[in-house]
Amino acid sequence: MKIKEITAFPIRINNDSDEGRKINTKNINTAMLATKEMHKSKDIKKSKPTVKKSLEKSKRNLEIKSMNTYDSTIKDMGEYYIDESSNTSIYSKSHETTVIKVETESGIVGWGEAQSPVSPNTTATIVKDILKPLTIGKNIYDVESIWYNNYSAQRERGHYTGFYIDALSGVDIAIWDAIGKSLNMPTSQAMGGIHRKNVTVYNGIGGSTPEEVADMAEWSVGKGYKYLKMHLKEDIEQTLDIVNEVRKRIGNAIGLMLDVHMGFESYNAIKLGKQLEKYNLLWLESPSDPTDIPGLCEISSSLDLPIANGEWTRTKYEMREIFEKRAYDISMPDIARTGLTGGKQIATIAQLYNIPISPHVGGGGIVAIAATLQYSINTPNFLLMEHSEQGNAVKSEILSEKFDAKDGVYSLPSKPGLGIEIDEGKLEKYTIAPSL
Ligand SMILES: [Mg+2]
Repeated sequence: MKIKEITAFPIRINNDSDEGRKINTKNINTAMLATKEMHKSKDIKKSKPTVKKSLEKSKRNLEIKSMNTYDSTIKDMGEYYIDESSNTSIYSKSHETTVIKVETESGIVGWGEAQSPVSPNTTATIVKDILKPLTIGKNIYDVESIWYNNYSAQRERGHYTGFYIDALSGVDIAIWDAIGKSLNMPTSQAMGGIHRKNVTVYNGIGGSTPEEVADMAEWSVGKGYKYLKMHLKEDIEQTLDIVNEVRKRIGNAIGLMLDVHMGFESYNAIKLGKQLEKYNLLWLESPSDPTDIPGLCEISSSLDLPIANGEWTRTKYEMREIFEKRAYDISMPDIARTGLTGGKQIATIAQLYNIPISPHVGGGGIVAIAATLQYSINTPNFLLMEHSEQGNAVKSEILSEKFDAKDGVYSLPSKPGLGIEIDEGKLEKYTIAPSL
């Protein structure tokens, strides 16, 4: 079944239905954590503010840092912004991504997504200029050889990661959607089999004070979530105060994780991790520079707390050393950066090392979510999938039918392929003009 056409749609959707990213706080690096609905709710019981108290008391944890990375220096560039004091990335104020359409000669349409949180036009150009001519005329059932050939086409140029791999991953997902539709089965089944019909997701929560994060935790539990992940970018002292308050508010029956977004040197990450152990967290995520593999090994071996990492790595080639050295305990591939083919390769190798997979979704859009769901259904060593209750309405704007988790669980969709229906009229409405 030959591929006849490939089209890339670079899209931008404003966060009208929620508060979007909170660029005035330190939590700029977390996707769509705020929601107006929470602040409207009268059911949220307010705890006494504890932040002032925590500032007044003497510091238990003095820290030395090479940069003032707990402070924020926001550079606002209009559509985009960055915290120049931190290690974190440039972000868009809107939801931006690149949706990819693959059409076969027999009329089957597959949809994919190349995650593009900033400059989706760059990704779309790569698809149009390089991947489209490489892929047109090939058979959709040769999907793994297409992934390999497209990867190899830029090997000599050194494009092992970043925009190029994102773009080829989006094409890969679209081909897998077409394969599922052509066989009238879920993509997960076409990929080799269904390991589970329900996938548990966790909700991302944020804020910079204990009561702010605890409010959001309580709101998420009210939505049916059994697992929550805090996105924090605070010093050790404030991080511990927040975790303490959240744990107190939601009790011990809710699974709690913490993502500190590369905020610490190895020694500070170990210092924090040791004091976190009593809070029974399921994992500490992205404690330090993800390229410092020896540092991650040291953090992992020093703590009784599992370390999760890997949302930046895109191929099995990058993962080899990480798995061999057991640099961390839980692997977090992002399917809109690895593709379904690359993600499956990573999960298979992780299984050899008894490392579970907890796929990252983060800034990915609704096609990425649907693809990650199929991946989670197909992956034997799957653990938990990331989700944003707050961001789903914005991400779903391009769909003709609702697609969301219920009570913190996604079920196997009844439709073939990825199980979603794209409304092309809406997709075109959000497509941005080429920048060149
Ligand atoms: Mg993360």
